[in-house]
Amino acid sequence: MTAALGLTGNASSVHAEGRAARRLIEDARGQVARLIGVESKNVTFTSGGTEANMLALTPAIEAGGRKERCDRLFVSAIEHPSVLSGGRFAADTVEQLPVNANGEVDPLELERRIAKAERPFVSVMLANNETGAIQPIAAVADVVHRANGVLHVDAVQAAGRIECDIEKLGADLLTLSSHKIGGPQGAGALVRRGDIHLTEPLIRGGWQERGQRAGTENVAAIAGFGAAARAAHEAQQGDAVRMAGLRDRFESGLKAASSDVIIFSANASRLPNTTLFTVPGLKAESAIISFDLNGIAVSSGSACSSGKVQASHVLAAMAVEPALARGAVRVSLGWETTESDVESLLIAWNTVVSSLLKNRDKQGIAA
Ligand code: PLP
Repeated sequence: MTAALGLTGNASSVHAEGRAARRLIEDARGQVARLIGVESKNVTFTSGGTEANMLALTPAIEAGGRKERCDRLFVSAIEHPSVLSGGRFAADTVEQLPVNANGEVDPLELERRIAKAERPFVSVMLANNETGAIQPIAAVADVVHRANGVLHVDAVQAAGRIECDIEKLGADLLTLSSHKIGGPQGAGALVRRGDIHLTEPLIRGGWQERGQRAGTENVAAIAGFGAAARAAHEAQQGDAVRMAGLRDRFESGLKAASSDVIIFSANASRLPNTTLFTVPGLKAESAIISFDLNGIAVSSGSACSSGKVQASHVLAAMAVEPALARGAVRVSLGWETTESDVESLLIAWNTVVSSLLKNRDKQGIAA
């Protein structure tokens, strides 16, 4: 990235400075392509995961050289808001798919629902950003393709943590975000497999990104994205095992400190780095402030919009009681998280729990 920031050339120019910028972009494209198991030409850089999702969700496709239109969009109820928005599909053609209490999509229910569409477009994420629950994408792909449909997979949270080989997943389109794999903010990609092309670019203008995404490239961010993709590709397996060990240690510490702790999606297969949990009566904001005072950055399971804390749509889709959902706290372990970080987290959690128990006693709330 530092090298890229020193370059003044525009990657579309033919002079030496332009060619140097182009080289950085194309190197990064190769690194991202290797992480997903595609050829470089199948990677379109965007400004991030949100833009890649918006680029993907369009009814206008080309398959086997023929222009076609998908008539309905099916998205799981636990998707990121950019997917829930329906992208460029008309609102009355978008349908949400339910999930079970573990936060998983049911391929049989999907099969039942898409039967009414002629050319369904389906978007199901590989792993959920709040619970970490991994979705049965290979089974979903099977159902979608038998129904002559197109499958888009938002792999923003999963990439770099679990394998994301597009062939094995069977996805036609796949979204990535640089900053979720340790790269800089402001870069992402839409990756394509095989025969499906999108015919409606989101941003029109110049011929950058083969006309799929006009505008001068953010060379430094793309170079950083490429470096992060290479690191993720090299380290994937080892990191996942180490992180899962730390996550398990954290969760057993949570259970030891509070017997009534609820770990959401505990019965689903989950990302190795994510734990979403609560105890009855917990206020997520107080827990987050208390962790922050101890130098630990955690999130609530709920989204904050216009200063108002809203209950998470993911937990609502899993039929979790709103009061419990409002107390959900999410811990995400990083590549550099150590055992001693987890111990500090548990010490901080013990403080949160003892003040919660005191308040419960004062207010006469049952555990
Ligand atoms: N998809 C998922 C599952 C996410 O978690 C996020 C971001 O949190 C996005 C998409 C959006 O990515 P970006 O922040 O790069 O726009």
